[in-house]
Amino acid sequence: EPAQTYDVVIIGAGPAGSLAASLLTQAQHRVLVVEKQHFPRFSIGESLLPQSMVYLEEAGLLQSVLDSAHELGFQYKNGAVFVSNQQQSVFDFADKSCDGPESTYQVKRASFDQLLAQKAQAFGAEFIFGSQLESIDFNPKPELIIRDEEGMASTIKADFVLDASGFGRVLPRLLDLDLPSEFPVRSSIFCHIQDNITDPTFDRNKILIETHPNEEDVWYWLIPFSDNTASLGCVAKPEFFERLRQGTAPDLEPLGNDQLLLRAVNQSTRLSKLLFAAVITQDAQQLTGYASNVKQLYGDHYALLGNAGEFLDPIFSSGVTIAFKSATLACDCLIKQFNQQAVCWNKDFAEPLRQGVNTFKAFVDSWYQQQLQDIIQFQDAPDNIRQMICSVLAGYAWDDNNPFVVEPKRRLNVLGELCAP
Ligand code: FAD
Repeated sequence: EPAQTYDVVIIGAGPAGSLAASLLTQAQHRVLVVEKQHFPRFSIGESLLPQSMVYLEEAGLLQSVLDSAHELGFQYKNGAVFVSNQQQSVFDFADKSCDGPESTYQVKRASFDQLLAQKAQAFGAEFIFGSQLESIDFNPKPELIIRDEEGMASTIKADFVLDASGFGRVLPRLLDLDLPSEFPVRSSIFCHIQDNITDPTFDRNKILIETHPNEEDVWYWLIPFSDNTASLGCVAKPEFFERLRQGTAPDLEPLGNDQLLLRAVNQSTRLSKLLFAAVITQDAQQLTGYASNVKQLYGDHYALLGNAGEFLDPIFSSGVTIAFKSATLACDCLIKQFNQQAVCWNKDFAEPLRQGVNTFKAFVDSWYQQQLQDIIQFQDAPDNIRQMICSVLAGYAWDDNNPFVVEPKRRLNVLGELCAP
C-alpha cells in the first residue's frame, strides 16, 4: 500500500492536538491526528482558566463548548478560593487588571476532549484512534510508522509533525530531548466524587484550593462539576503519601488509593467538613513525577505542544491553557511557513510560549516557598496589586502590561516580604 501523505500529522488528541487540528484544517491543510486511546477516555486536568476561552474562540471551538456545557456537566467557573487553616481568600476573575473573558468552565475531560476532537473532525481533520506512533524518520521529511491494536502497521508521510502526546512524550523520548524538571518530584492522588455538599457558603463557581494545616507544601483541590459531582485531589511529595500509608498496622492490607485520599482529606480543615457526606464515584488514581522539561521545543519539521513540551505543576490549573497557547503559536508559524512566509520558530513560537510558562513557573516556585501563599492570604494588599495577581490566576500570563508577567520573580519576592506574617 502506498504511504498516505498529509501536511501535518499530530500525535495525540488531547486539547493541544484537537485545537491544532482545528486551526490547520480551517486554513485548508490536510491533517491526520493519531491517538493511542479510544474516546471518551478519562484525563486529569479539569479546571480551565478564562484565558483558554480566547484560544478556543480563535480556533472556532468556543461556541460548541458553550452549547454543550449544560449537557456535558461543565461547571461555570469565575474564580478561585484559597483556604489555609482558618483563613480564606477569594479571587473573583472579574477583579483582574487586564481585559479578556472573566469566566470559564470546569470540565470532565472525557467529554471535553471528545467534543473538541469531534469538532476538529467536522472541520475536516482525520483522526485514527487506537493507534500509536512506532517510529519516525525525519530524513529528508517526516515518515512515520504507526501501529494499530491488531498489530497492523502503516506508513504515513508528512511535511510536519506536531507532538501533542502529553505525558506520552513521544518525540522527546524518540529524539532524546527529555530534560529533568527543575521542580522536585511530587505526587497526586485524585478521584471523582458525588460531593453531597449542603453548606450554603460553598461557592460551586470557584475552584477550592486548601493548604494542609501542618504541611505547607501539601495541598488539595476541589473542582466542582455542574451535576453534583466533583474532582477531588491531593498533591504532596511522595514521602507524605508513604507516611500516610504506613499509618496502618503492618499486618493489615495496605491502604488502597481511595482510603489514602480520604485519609489525606480527613487531615484538612475545610474540605473534611464540606465533604462529610461525599461518596467516591470514580476510583482514586495516583500520578507521580509528572513535572518534565525538554532541551528544545521545536526542530526541523517538528514542534512539541502542551505537556509533550514542559509540564510544571497543577497548582494554578495552567496546563490546558498552556497547551492551547502552544498549539495556537505553532499553528500560526506553520500556516505562515506553508504560505512561503518567513518564520522564526524561536522568536515566533518558543520565546513567546516560554514567557507565559516562566510566569507560571515563578508563581509555582513562590507558592511552594510559601511566599505566594502569604501574598494570597494577605487581605490588605492594595487593590491594583491583587488585580494583577488575579490576572495571572485567570491565565493571563502573557500580558506585557502586567508587572507580574514582565518580572514575576522579582515582583513576587518584593511583595512576599511585605506580606510575610
Ligand atoms: P493530554 O491531554 O495529555 O493529551 C495527550 C493525548 O495523547 C492523550 O489522549 C494520549 O492518549 C495521547 N497519546 C499519548 N501517547 C501517545 C502515543 N504514543 N501515540 C498516540 N497518542 C498518544 N491542567 C489544567 O488546565 N487544569 C487543571 O486543573 C489541571 N490539573 C492537573 C492535575 C494533575 C495532578 C496533573 C498531573 C495535571 C493537571 N493539569 C491541569 C495538566 C493537564 O492535565 C495537562 O496540562 C493537559 O491535559 C495537557 O494537554 P495536552 O493536549 O498537552 O496532553
